[in-house]
Amino acid sequence: MGTIYMDHAATTPIDPRVHEAMQPWLQECYGNPSSPYAVARRARAAIDDARERVAGLIGARPSEVYFTAGGTEGDNLAIKGIAWAREANGRHLIVSSIEHQAVLETARFLSRRGWELTLLPVDSHGLVDPQAVAEALRSDTALVAVMHANNEVGTVQPIAEIAAVTRSRGVPLVVDAVQTAGLMPIDVDALGCDVLVMSAHKFYGPKGAGAVYVRRGTPIEPLLHGGGQERGLRAGTESVAGIVGLAKALELACAEMHEVVPRLIRLRDELAAGILQRVPGARLNGDPAKRLPNNVHVSFAGVDGESLLLNLDLAGLAASSGSACTSGSLSPSHVLLAMGLSRELARGSLRLTLGKDNTEVEVRRAVDLIAAAVERLREKNRPTARMAPPFRAQRA
Ligand code: PLP
Repeated sequence: MGTIYMDHAATTPIDPRVHEAMQPWLQECYGNPSSPYAVARRARAAIDDARERVAGLIGARPSEVYFTAGGTEGDNLAIKGIAWAREANGRHLIVSSIEHQAVLETARFLSRRGWELTLLPVDSHGLVDPQAVAEALRSDTALVAVMHANNEVGTVQPIAEIAAVTRSRGVPLVVDAVQTAGLMPIDVDALGCDVLVMSAHKFYGPKGAGAVYVRRGTPIEPLLHGGGQERGLRAGTESVAGIVGLAKALELACAEMHEVVPRLIRLRDELAAGILQRVPGARLNGDPAKRLPNNVHVSFAGVDGESLLLNLDLAGLAASSGSACTSGSLSPSHVLLAMGLSRELARGSLRLTLGKDNTEVEVRRAVDLIAAAVERLREKNRPTARMAPPFRAQRA
């Protein structure tokens, strides 16, 4: 058996049908979409078509969809863009404490420049309480950011309830849907968000391609100034192949969700049950019910997550740990700490995220590999029995 890939929250391979759809836009149809001749007009038409399709898939108007170079750019655009546009109203931001770094670091960047930042707490399952949002809102709040589902523990947030609160106070709600787009149905009106961020490489599309939904009337400033592309919100010559690939990938993911997701849930539950059964003291993190269909996140006391990952990599299993490597030091995940895990337990974490090509055989093999690796590491860490001094023959 080759390498078992269970890190689909990090990225996914491009679906061959997406790859095929992108090909013409890399070679024959190379025109700059802003140019006035036929080869360029075809590229412009391809972007318009992609925008219409993406809008249709999330219940938006085409004029509310903007293409970016991925999730990080989308989050930066949403947070800085709205904060700057609403600056005259006040300089207070509310962000959940378990956001991806693309949101958290952007908010911290603003807080270093005088913005006041409220980090919303979460419960032990990683859930944000809509009531806590209501209590944190102030007359000078520029925006609230709560992600749709967490990229580490997979907890899905009550966005519609949170949106009801933010809407009643007239404050824009930014939702990072990078982990849910393609795995859960998205309807921007049902969610009630004002901005929604997606990234193509998480749903079998190309890396470096993203889309942002901005509800009509939401005040937002551009990050990138230049040639006025994307109706002035995101200057720069469009990545036509990337945009076409994103739209195709989202279309396929939405069309196949009804087949793929129930299978993922079955595999996810089998994987979680297998680990919990085979590894003494294993603990499942995240909400047991409100979680992504492909996410298993576990902690093992007495095990270092990085060593576990290296062991699993050598054994042929690609997964992720709960740690973030920050400036050379391994710090435990901010998400797990916010959920109340001890630093020690947070360090011994493993994230497995399934994809549409994973099989039951792979799941069973992964359970075997994880059980063996945890046992090996725990054995190594056990204090060894005091050894007797070596026997030396007495010289006669
Ligand atoms: N937001 C979330 C929740 C993510 O999981 C990621 C990537 O892992 C990002 C944002 C950043 O997306 P990108 O890799 O497209 O920059």
